Amino acid sequence: MTNTPATENSQLRSQLKLLLEQAHRNQQIMQRYQEFDLKFIGANTFQELIDSVFDTLTEASELDVVTLSLIDPDAEIRRILTDLRIDVSDYPNLIFIAESIDEMAHPARKASLGIYNSMQHRRLFPDTVLKPSSVAILPLIRRNALIGWLSLGSLDATRFTSGMASDFLQHRASIVAICVENVINNERLQHIGLTDPLTGVNNRRYVERRLLEEVGRTQRHGHTLSAMYIDLDFFKKVNDNYGHQGGDEVLREVAARIKAELRLSDALGRFGGEEFVVLLIDAGMEAALAVAERMRSSIANRPLVLSSGEQLRLSVSIGVSTLQAIERKDEVATIAQQLLAKADQALYLAKQGGRNKVMNVI
Ligand code: GH3
Ligand code: MG
Ligand code: MG
Repeated sequence: MTNTPATENSQLRSQLKLLLEQAHRNQQIMQRYQEFDLKFIGANTFQELIDSVFDTLTEASELDVVTLSLIDPDAEIRRILTDLRIDVSDYPNLIFIAESIDEMAHPARKASLGIYNSMQHRRLFPDTVLKPSSVAILPLIRRNALIGWLSLGSLDATRFTSGMASDFLQHRASIVAICVENVINNERLQHIGLTDPLTGVNNRRYVERRLLEEVGRTQRHGHTLSAMYIDLDFFKKVNDNYGHQGGDEVLREVAARIKAELRLSDALGRFGGEEFVVLLIDAGMEAALAVAERMRSSIANRPLVLSSGEQLRLSVSIGVSTLQAIERKDEVATIAQQLLAKADQALYLAKQGGRNKVMNVI
């Protein structure tokens, strides 16, 4: 039986309707992705970037789980983020891969789509995130170097199949790679601006900023805060006897010994030549004096060994002060200044008292 023009016409109409619907859906998808790209490219900080990856991308692509894995063999990225007070444990979908890439079971540089395979994909979808049924693993490549993977997961086993075209996803991954690199570089620059190049600890700018932040928090939440001023004793003699180079080595070792006594949440900065300032978060006078005493003895009791093999003995004087009950109306900057001024006065007392001492001013 041949089709009458009327049935042909209606068949064509319904085909056209399907095509139009398809085109409309595709347009909506493109629009969602464009919005995502704009949001993503606009991210300035790591925090913003991670939020766009995990929230916007998951939503825009109707995915069930998205993870971002970054290759970070020397923990450099993690160190920068920790120093910038970004708590990576807040982001279970952000994974740092410490081992060499060869150990990863799947081909590193090609997008791979298909059924979730726990042997291959476990690392990219750790126990803390939802286990998908199908996945798209997209390598992030910048300047020919693999920097990580964007891993998309769906509970629908047919969402990603091995025969599927991946150009569109690959394109998305190259945008993500550029943004990840930019944001990490931004954070790196900010980190450099807050780090003392000689010792690798923070600089004065960082500690002064952090002090204002911490005084503000103390004012709001009522916990305690202590500060220390640390000055090396007779440091001029070190320079005279071992040269400036030797003096620099001593500064690095002393910074490391001070740091070893601190918690991750505390702050240590080199304030000037051979002076360091420490902020002890949530520590009162008694605790601060105990930490200071540990620092003093770890420096005085163990000789410092220079790269030349020479050994020298050295001591530090430490002044400690603690924030007393503060009024909510008091200016944060004034409180911060007073806290440091008291630690400085205490340091003066320690020097007066014969050096290699810890003193405090109430
Ligand atoms: P005191 O016990 O009274 O603190 O004696 P001091 O010799 O340490 O005296 P002071 O703190 O006044 O002197 C600091 C010296 O530290 C001056 C300078 O020779 C040295 N110094 C300052 N900055 C640096 C630096 O970046 N590297 C080196 N190697 N030495 C520095
Ligand atoms: Mg000194
Ligand atoms: Mg000094």
